[in-house]
Amino acid sequence: MAYLTLKNINKIYPNGFHAVHNFNLEIEKGEFVVFVGPSGCGKSTTLRMIAGLEDISNGEFLINGKRANELGPREREIAMVFQSYALYPQMTVYDNIAFGLTLQGVDEDIIEERVKNIARILGLTDYLDRLPRALSGGQRQRVAIGRAIIRKVGVFLMDEPLSNLDAKQRVTMRYEIAQIHQETGATTIYVTHDQTEAMTLADRIVVMKSGYVQQVGTPYQLYFEPENVFVAGFIGEPPMNFLKGKVKDGALYFGNNKLDLSKKLPGIKKYEGKDLVFGFRPEHIKLGSHEDAYEITCDVELTEMLGDNTNVYVVGNEDHAILKVDSHDTPETDKPITFSIPYEKVYLFDGETEKVIKE
Ligand code: ATP
Repeated sequence: MAYLTLKNINKIYPNGFHAVHNFNLEIEKGEFVVFVGPSGCGKSTTLRMIAGLEDISNGEFLINGKRANELGPREREIAMVFQSYALYPQMTVYDNIAFGLTLQGVDEDIIEERVKNIARILGLTDYLDRLPRALSGGQRQRVAIGRAIIRKVGVFLMDEPLSNLDAKQRVTMRYEIAQIHQETGATTIYVTHDQTEAMTLADRIVVMKSGYVQQVGTPYQLYFEPENVFVAGFIGEPPMNFLKGKVKDGALYFGNNKLDLSKKLPGIKKYEGKDLVFGFRPEHIKLGSHEDAYEITCDVELTEMLGDNTNVYVVGNEDHAILKVDSHDTPETDKPITFSIPYEKVYLFDGETEKVIKE
């Protein structure tokens, strides 16, 4: 039996706005699940329903197989870390971390042992006497996490915990959160709009858009087996290239290049005259001509050297794409370039439903 079960969960706010539609998910004990999607897609609303901070309008939430819809936040044995750290400014780091246990009247000696242990895990041992205002953003966020994990609860919920940090701190904290999860083995649900955070932290990712779940899968599945255009475009940086058009004589065109779709999709005939989307990832192209691949010749508009690789922006008539190449192979701008996309790296989507076409 799954540890947490969300069955057809819906949220309709009092103003009538339907923020979450038929959300279904089973979460195993110890799993790290990430909800990801653009702003306003319903991630926080779903998390808050799990926390008991928001009523569930329709559907059932089960903990260990038992209905939990009516349980208050405390009864759910869940701890939450918010985007804003919400530390008590007049309390030291030690007291902030200890707060939950102090409230419960836990023995001072036990509190001290637990606070010290958590401070060690979080690298806060030297800061226990400080007030929050004397800490960096990353250190404050660690205190907030410490405060959550000191209570030995079943589930940790994190709502964009890294969004107030700068780029470098985010990378460090991401690593630390992964380590804390390894050490504690706690079931964690983490909300972010950052696909890199989702890919690096998650056992499984739930991609959401406009209140609907688009796909649930491991990072590997979402990257290699996206089920629709939205997921394919959301996971991966730079995003997947999409070429949209009507199938004519079994082909789509990129500039003057004919892409014979029967190579990828033997049953292409039934799509004649219909809208199709041809997708390929910037990092899956090969420079030059290759066997069993679509070959495209077009112009280089711009290059961005990023260190180990270069993003190459190409154009053919009205069609644009981004290619990722080894920086040693950075091409010249305003010159033609030929590249190949192996057949097996091409994704075809139905232009109307935007769902992937499986051969
Ligand atoms: P973000 O990344 O911006 O936090 P999110 O995916 O977490 O976005 P939610 O905060 O869950 O999105 O909001 C989902 C939708 O519900 C949004 O369109 C939002 O405007 C709406 N919404 C949130 N709270 C309320 C409320 N109290 N009343 C009505 N609508 C709300």
